[in-house]
Order: sequence, then C-alpha cells, then structure tokens
Amino acid sequence: MEFCDKCGGLLMPESENGKYFLECRNCDERKPLTEEIADSYSSTLKISHHIGDEYKNAIEMEKWKKKI
Ligand SMILES: [Zn+2]
Repeated sequence: MEFCDKCGGLLMPESENGKYFLECRNCDERKPLTEEIADSYSSTLKISHHIGDEYKNAIEMEKWKKKI
C-alpha cells in the first residue's frame, strides 16, 4: 500500500479517462500508478502485466460502497 506524501493518508487506485493513478482520500493528492506500486496492491487487486477486469471491478466496488 502507498501513503500520501502530504498527509499520510491511504492512497487508493483510481482511473480517469482510461488512465490509472493513486489518489489520496484525504487531500486529493495524486501519484502515478507504476507497475511496481500496482504489485503492492495485488493482494486486493490482481494486476499482472496489464490492468485487468478485476482491477476495474475493485474500483466499481469502491464507487458502489460510497452510494450506500
Ligand atoms: Zn493526502
């Protein structure tokens, strides 16, 4: 897992316009999502060489949780 340089908050993978990055839940700080970082999320998000459907599903799940 990666943490925010500004506030120490947890960075979560997000996507926008087909690009993937890490975004802080507290201050909206963004970091590029490198393959190395993606690997550190592989316990919850399965990413091999490219970003697959399970990754997208995890993001959709996050959005879904916010609606409740
Ligand atoms: Zn932050």
